[in-house]
Amino acid sequence: THFGFKQVAVDEKVKLVRGVFDSVAEQYDIMNDLMSLGIHRIWKRIAVQLSNVRKGEHVLDLAGGTGDLTTLFHERVGSDGQVVLADINAQMLRTGRDRLIDRGLAANIRYAQVNAECLPFADNTFDCVCIAFGLRNVTDKDAALRSMYRVLKPGGRVIVLEFSHPTDKVTEKVYDFYSFNILPKIGRFVAKDEESYRYLAESIRMHPKQAELKQMMENAGLERCEYFNMTQGIVAVHRGYKI
Ligand code: SAM
Repeated sequence: THFGFKQVAVDEKVKLVRGVFDSVAEQYDIMNDLMSLGIHRIWKRIAVQLSNVRKGEHVLDLAGGTGDLTTLFHERVGSDGQVVLADINAQMLRTGRDRLIDRGLAANIRYAQVNAECLPFADNTFDCVCIAFGLRNVTDKDAALRSMYRVLKPGGRVIVLEFSHPTDKVTEKVYDFYSFNILPKIGRFVAKDEESYRYLAESIRMHPKQAELKQMMENAGLERCEYFNMTQGIVAVHRGYKI
């Protein structure tokens, strides 16, 4: 029947579209492993440890993408807690949700399409707000930090995991060579996209230095701010509290 035909066509389209989303997310995860030699998994684990998130707490995984941090937080908050995976991009959010469901994680995880600059949550909602490899992409970082501060409960903490700046000259030289000579080639061969990975390296250079980001967090109202360099400052975790 006409109806039957249409039904098939729609199913087919859904499959095709999903295929595109899946391959983007797939590629994104593979590139993360390749670019960082798998070390991003360790950076993420350390960031979550530094959050001190405990059983029963409410966590916002902002710019959460495919949900790596959400998975780690979910282990910590247990059945009484809750993690909200939030991202500005609906496709990332959708693949993130599929990933988490595939891993058998569904309970206590919520999803929200949000812009970090103007979070649609009530004041004093979360025990921890974490943004991992996301702040760099936000246009108005000060607005995002103020918004993160606002939705944090008193006693809660903000965790920023982000590329940062090498702490010594040798690392800087090696890292520059890697970023501008090797990384774009990996991008070309694996993701068929050299330009994006050149942009990635440039956006990392533009991101505020450790001390400057700490100052920005303080300006947003956060207290006891400090940072922890990892891999010679290539990545840093910043932490601050709402008192
Ligand atoms: N946190 C994940 C991880 O560490 O694997 C994903 C990081 S991914 C490099 C950056 C994410 O930030 C993307 O999913 C993107 O959609 C999201 N993003 C960019 N700008 C944003 C904004 N203004 N508000 C919320 N999310 C944003």
